Parts: sequence; structure tokens; C-alpha cells
Amino acid sequence: MNGTLYVVATPIGNLGDFSPRAQEILRKADLIAAEDTRHSAALLRHFGITTAMISLHEYNERRRAELLIARCREGLSVALISDAGTPLISDPGYRVVRQARHAGIEVLPIPGPCALVAALSVAGLPSDRFVFEGFLPAKTGARQARLLQLAEESRTLIFYEAPRRLLETLQAMIEAFEPDREAVVARELTKRYETVQGGTLSFLLSWARQTPESSRGELVLLVHGAEKEQDAIQQEALRVLRPLVAVLPLKQAVALAVDITGFKKNRLYQLALELQAAKKH
Ligand code: SAM
Repeated sequence: MNGTLYVVATPIGNLGDFSPRAQEILRKADLIAAEDTRHSAALLRHFGITTAMISLHEYNERRRAELLIARCREGLSVALISDAGTPLISDPGYRVVRQARHAGIEVLPIPGPCALVAALSVAGLPSDRFVFEGFLPAKTGARQARLLQLAEESRTLIFYEAPRRLLETLQAMIEAFEPDREAVVARELTKRYETVQGGTLSFLLSWARQTPESSRGELVLLVHGAEKEQDAIQQEALRVLRPLVAVLPLKQAVALAVDITGFKKNRLYQLALELQAAKKH
């Protein structure tokens, strides 16, 4: 009989959040696959768990998947953990789970802490529909392009971000979204210096500038989705742009439309391109 692959959540800061069931599964498993075995050894030692561990990183996941599946086929039970929170969520494990399922091995979740869910549960932003974007690209151009793609997204946006990039990211969001878009910074959740700060993007930028600790620790950044009035804004932008695009070069039409409406240049430029393309057809 095949063994089971357990996907086990561990605390994101507060050890009190380590569920008794998660501890029990890790204690009874034949093998634990951990992102950083030294990091996890400290956690397991604290709870008196002595199960053998092997490492599972992004770069060895393919090979490790085969080994872990072979163990399950031998009837052993394997537990997958990451450094903190729920494995696979901006953490390794996806390939192992996928291959295990394809191999007909039972994969069971042992749910628990997850920073994005914890942050959303206290942010006070619409939580009925949301988009988890993980980490934004580190390079400025790629990050700005991603944010522009998200500018019209009406669901709550959730990002993981390195604290040293918080100021830069808030600035980039102000440029890509509206400066008065509501957002929340949830840092050091479940830990001693836990802070959940909400406000407009421009308020958060000045708050972060004045709060040196905001550039330390761990954080989740949540942004209110684009308002449905965007539709109304789009209609107004098109109303102004249409006659201008008909008689003026594109750049000039956009510049005038920016003056008239006060809307974002990027957005107006995109709409102008769409109008021009439609004119050609
Ligand atoms: N798998 C984890 C989970 O379930 O949330 C996430 C792993 S990802 C590599 C690490 C990122 O999660 C951090 O950079 C931060 O954005 C977020 N994070 C983890 N713990 C956090 C905490 N206690 N407070 C705020 N954000 C946290």
C-alpha cells in the first residue's frame, strides 16, 4: 500500500499557532521534506519531534520529487513543510504535490497559518474576491509592467514584499494605480511587533518613510481593487479622446486629454491606441 504525502502548515511567527494535529503528523511521519532543514530543525527540536528530514528547495525539487514519491510507494508517509506557513504558497512543493497526485499517491493537507490569509482576515478590505500575486518582479521595469496590468483589477490585490522594497513598491503603486487607492501593510503578523496599518497609498508612503521599522521584518501588502466607477472614468476618457484622436497626432491628443480630464497618461495613451486601431478597421 502506498504511503501518504502530508502538506503541513507551520507557524509564521507565533509557535502557539502550531496545531496539535500538525505536530502529531510530523512526529509520526517517516520522513519530513523541509525547505531549509537547519531552520526547521529548531522548530522540530522545540516540539520534541525527531523525525528524519531531507531538504527540498526550488532547485532540487524535480529530483527530490522522484525520491519522495518512491518512498511513498514503499508505504512510507512523507510530510512536506516550508520555512514558515503553508508550503507551496510562494514556497517550494508544487512539483512534488503534482507528481505525487499523478502517481496516484494520496496527498492530504494539514492546514494552518498562511500570511496572506492572516493579513486578509484583518485588513478590512473586501475579502469575498481577491487575487494573490505573490512577490512582484524585483526589476523596476518588469514590476511596473505587472502593476499596470493590474490597474483595472477590481478584486482585492495581495502581495508578498521584501520590507527593504516597501517604499519603492508603494511609489510604483502610486504611479500605476491612483494615489488615493486604499491599501494595508500587515507586518510581523503573530509576532511581537505586529502592525497592521491602513490608509491611501500616498498616506502609506509617508507613514513608511516616517516609520523606520516598516523596512524590517516580514510584510504583506494588500490593495483595494479598482472601483467599478472605473467604467465611468473610461467612458469619460473615451468621450474626450475620440474627437482628439480623430484630428490630432496620438501624442498631442493624449497630452490634451490629460490636461482636460486629469486622468493618467498611461491609461489615456492605451485607450488612444485602441481608438486608433479601431479607426483602421
Ligand atoms: N508559505 C508562506 C505562507 O504561507 O504565507 C509564505 C512564504 S514566502 C517565502 C514569505 C513571505 O510571506 C514574506 O516575505 C512575507 O511577505 C510573508 N510573511 C511570512 N510571514 C509573515 C508574517 N509573520 N507577517 C507578515 N508577512 C509574512
